[in-house]
Amino acid sequence: MIILCLICHEELSQQMSWSSFLLIEPKACDDCYQSLKKIQSPTCPRCFRPQENDHVCQDCQAWENDPQWKNILQKNLSVFEYNDSMKELLATFKFRGDAALVEVFQKDFLASYKASFFKEKIDFVIPIPLSPERLYERGFNQAKLLANFLPLPQIDILTRTHHEKQSKKSRQERITASNVFSIVDSSKIMNKKILLIDDIYTTGSTLRHAAKVLKDNGTGSIFSFTLIRS
Ligand SMILES: [Zn+2]
Ligand SMILES: [Zn+2]
Repeated sequence: MIILCLICHEELSQQMSWSSFLLIEPKACDDCYQSLKKIQSPTCPRCFRPQENDHVCQDCQAWENDPQWKNILQKNLSVFEYNDSMKELLATFKFRGDAALVEVFQKDFLASYKASFFKEKIDFVIPIPLSPERLYERGFNQAKLLANFLPLPQIDILTRTHHEKQSKKSRQERITASNVFSIVDSSKIMNKKILLIDDIYTTGSTLRHAAKVLKDNGTGSIFSFTLIRS
């Protein structure tokens, strides 16, 4: 059986052994896989930004000094840096609709979850939803594909009501903008520990807006886990 690298589509050299029946098969060739860079410490303890020390970064301090946003998001964890290879890969995955690419990330995403969140005893995982228009356009929600890798019950109780491009707004506009998320059923989340999933943490605004709706509806602590930290 010929297996192709999901990224460059070159043939993967297969070493058939007993272990390859038991472990997750490689999904990308060594060259492609090694072009992706995993985040190394030190990082900001709240948002996982790679930096020179392990102090809370200025952005996180700004969020935490704002009474409206204080303690809305407990902490974020991410797996990969947003380097050039990852930029290209994410564009192929999201904008050219190559949903199968998500499998490249399965092993590392699951391993990071186990290393960092297993002890938190998370009750539910919630993927950040797309607006219905965007979901129709793309055909899949990348956050949901990532969430499907985790051994946790998933509840899709958030909806996204409006999808003006966040990146076109300034930081202040993003923070003061009315919330694009709303909740359809809050009965299950009362005092529960929630893990929000998204593909990328950029400013943290999207995740915090989603977390705020959950908090306002009685959720306990909220963590976030993203594939990439830009
Ligand atoms: Zn490759
Ligand atoms: Zn930070």
